Amino acid sequence: MARQSAVVGRIAAARQQAQGGVDYSPKNGARCPWCDQRAKIYKTTPWEDNVRVRYHRCIEPGCALSSMGVTIKSVEVDTVDGS
Ligand SMILES: [Zn+2]
Repeated sequence: MARQSAVVGRIAAARQQAQGGVDYSPKNGARCPWCDQRAKIYKTTPWEDNVRVRYHRCIEPGCALSSMGVTIKSVEVDTVDGS
């Protein structure tokens, strides 16, 4: 039982991370917080100031977030100072 609730806790943490936003890398994209595979983009929002938000879904078979259909949010920050 304790083992099972530990897994549930880890899934909850990964879900929370997915909802709160993971880092987006132009090179590597966004990684699923659960299985660490590259998550597939399904929506890209326009730049807002230096921040761009994308929404992803993990398509990895057997991944907890994938099977629950959890949306993974990613945040890209443009670090180039254009001013
Ligand atoms: Zn995954």
